[in-house]
Amino acid sequence: MPDTSFRVPTVAIHGGRKPDAAFGAILTPIYQSTTYVQEAVGVHKGFTYSRAANPTVDALEHALGAVENTPPAVCFATGMAAITTLFLSVLKQGDHAIVSEVVYGGTVRLFEQLLVGLGIECSFVDASRPELVEAAIRPRTRIIFLETPGNPTLKLCDVQAIADLAHRHGIKVAVDNTFLTPVLQPILEQGADISVLSTTKYIEGHNATVGGSLATRDEELLARFRLIRKTLGCIQSPQEAWLTLRGLKTLPFRMRQHSENALTVASWLEAHPAVEQVLYPGLESFPQRELAQRQHKAHGGILSFEIKAGAEAAITLMNSVKLCSLAENLGAVETLVTHPVSMTHADVPVAQRERVGITEGLVRVSVGLEAPEDIIADLDQALAAATSFAEGRTPCLTR
Ligand code: PLP
Repeated sequence: MPDTSFRVPTVAIHGGRKPDAAFGAILTPIYQSTTYVQEAVGVHKGFTYSRAANPTVDALEHALGAVENTPPAVCFATGMAAITTLFLSVLKQGDHAIVSEVVYGGTVRLFEQLLVGLGIECSFVDASRPELVEAAIRPRTRIIFLETPGNPTLKLCDVQAIADLAHRHGIKVAVDNTFLTPVLQPILEQGADISVLSTTKYIEGHNATVGGSLATRDEELLARFRLIRKTLGCIQSPQEAWLTLRGLKTLPFRMRQHSENALTVASWLEAHPAVEQVLYPGLESFPQRELAQRQHKAHGGILSFEIKAGAEAAITLMNSVKLCSLAENLGAVETLVTHPVSMTHADVPVAQRERVGITEGLVRVSVGLEAPEDIIADLDQALAAATSFAEGRTPCLTR
């Protein structure tokens, strides 16, 4: 287990890290090597083949473990590879999972289009209400999977309440903590068993890599994750691991600034006459404000909103941004605007989308680290374009 006496910014920079054994380089080099020469049969330095383990990836796993306050994490080629490995590690034919109904669209697709075909059952539940989660438990429920805040409506789940009820039934709880990261929401201290991250987002933070990780204090599970990863062949690449090691060092500072910028933008949007509703856990108006304050250290960089003029006008808005980019990612220094219905959640069945409030007109913003005044100026001119469209003064910019 990592040294817990340091504070979060120190841990992000130094935790789990040591100079490279070969030449003392302060940064672990990119070990771009498939295989490792063995001194004799069965005698090696812990690495044999890079599908199983790699020294640069190993360095990232120690560093992430320090931030999560767990043994070394297990790193994957993508966040989806981490989530797939998690479910294949704990579920077999006939087993059942409970999944929060507001989750990243890829997690829904994994169940709807893959795991169901393997005889694994899943209930998508409104996990903002712990009593509904408990009611969904079956004799063969093995895992409860939460995403909080949920993508893209920011709905929250009470991690401690759900962990308490799950543990009474002997069920494990995993939380996709991609939106807030362990820095703003230490879900393992709040009772969860497994922390899931798409490191593609805030952990690396610069739109440069894709990756994922699983962290837990359960050594048996860690061994199972490594076995499944080796079997599927979905380990992270050493290049991605190196960039992620670098990004991780500034995570606490970036999360603080993302949160500050997002609150500024959310407050401005909320006061704009063309805006119908803004969803951001840092706003007084947020429906689960009390839970947000109890569970978050700050509220991160993601917000969603709808405009009064409706879906077509919202699409005009998204097509009109100039400084912000219309793109399918979140959690990096650049502000990104996403249309969940056509992008991240396109594969989620329409009925499920409608039930959870992912409307045609919903706009998700990943607020970056530019000056908030500049982000606001860009959204202002895009809102003006959307308003002109709604008033029939400009043609709709088609998708
Ligand atoms: N979890 C969340 C909350 C996400 O937003 C995403 C991707 O957008 C993922 C998981 C999947 O991560 P990746 O794209 O790295 O596979």
